[in-house]
Amino acid sequence: MSNEFDFKKDCDKIAFDRGHRAKLKFNIGKYDLAVKKGKAQYSNLELAKDRAGLIKYRAVNDLEKYLVEFEAKFTTRGGKVIWAQDAKEALKEIEQIIRKFGIKRVVKSKSMVSEELELNDFLKKKSVNSVETDLGEYIVQLAGEKPYHIITPAMHKNREEIALLFNQKFGLDKEASASEITQFVRERLREEFLSADCGITGANFIVADSGAIALTENEGNAIRSLSNKGVHIVIVGIEKVLPSVDDLDLFWPLLATHGSGQELTVYNSLVYGPRQENETDGPSEMFVILLDNGRTNVLAKEEQRVALACIRCGACLNGCPVYKNIGGYTYGTTYTGPIGAVIEPHLNGIENFSHLSFASSLCGKCTEVCPVRIPLHKLLLANRREAVEAGFMPGNWNTGMKVSKTLLKKRRWLDLLSANQKNFLLKYFAAGLWGKRRELPSIAKKNFYQLWKENKLD
Ligand code: SF4
Repeated sequence: MSNEFDFKKDCDKIAFDRGHRAKLKFNIGKYDLAVKKGKAQYSNLELAKDRAGLIKYRAVNDLEKYLVEFEAKFTTRGGKVIWAQDAKEALKEIEQIIRKFGIKRVVKSKSMVSEELELNDFLKKKSVNSVETDLGEYIVQLAGEKPYHIITPAMHKNREEIALLFNQKFGLDKEASASEITQFVRERLREEFLSADCGITGANFIVADSGAIALTENEGNAIRSLSNKGVHIVIVGIEKVLPSVDDLDLFWPLLATHGSGQELTVYNSLVYGPRQENETDGPSEMFVILLDNGRTNVLAKEEQRVALACIRCGACLNGCPVYKNIGGYTYGTTYTGPIGAVIEPHLNGIENFSHLSFASSLCGKCTEVCPVRIPLHKLLLANRREAVEAGFMPGNWNTGMKVSKTLLKKRRWLDLLSANQKNFLLKYFAAGLWGKRRELPSIAKKNFYQLWKENKLD
């Protein structure tokens, strides 16, 4: 778990790691180019974003109704719905399923919710072999790491590093190309799919009016894990519900465009439950775990609840100047970047994570790029206000604010010292606060008011 001190220390280190920044710049640069092309499919992107925001806000505001509707529909086809209040409850339910069906081998596809549960570690402790089947996730699992980014889990690695990892683990050529590595993984995963007795996926959306799980992906691994004849478990946050299957017309392309710059992701699937009598493939048993894990804390916040409209496209991470400098691991949380800074304090305790809301220049780029109109920079301010009101700010911050308030309220207080005296004080007492690698700007000899009076403003 991150705290403010570790966060600042890690930021200070990683922001000056030129290799790390170069990898981010390269990958986000490619993303930016692709997104520009993807957005060209819209004749009116702003209208699409307005509509998507409206649909999601309505769904969030009526969460209970839509979730119950989803449950009623999904269970009519033999699926089972489990409501889990927190990670502990969800893991207990998963353990019961594993025991009941004697599950030993799991194929898993990318799911940030499963990261919240630290599911792979849990399964390992229960002697269940769990293999990530999304290429990026497979790479980070192999490296013993967590996903670095919600859409691009191995964004922090370049081809050379990945080839070296496969050389160390499997003896692959150190110079292996991206397509050679992909081919190798494809063959290995085929074996895993064939021998697995359980598949675990997340869900991009769950659809209330039809009781469907909506999956959108590029590699086909999620839908492949569903074609196993064994058990399938879907773990999904309660905020992922959409009212109607018709909404996917809008949300699938919007997610693809903002997530990877595609017009539409390669594989888009709707799954309505376990295999039926007249069907030839699909799981014999299917469970959907609806996970709260702090989401109702976000829901209870009048301002911040709109953050539950997030469709996890990752656009705000890629647009954020802070993320571009410090990357994903520094946050020390499952969700990172602007959306992480907004929701993590409510998911995991404002006392532990309120500092993340201050890691923002409030430039508003996150709000601008969000496809569902979440006013992220305003929510960061709301979090800051809450942290101050709850007394989670350090003592020197509070003192600094009181002094600033007194000085800024009265011109004569500000003019009490000369520019030279102010520069002297700032240099010796405040330089550290500004950061060790930056020089404080000097205070001008004459202030605006004086220049105005002397009529010397251009
Ligand atoms: S907050 Fe908006 S931009 Fe950020 S991940 Fe969620 S949907 Fe995408």
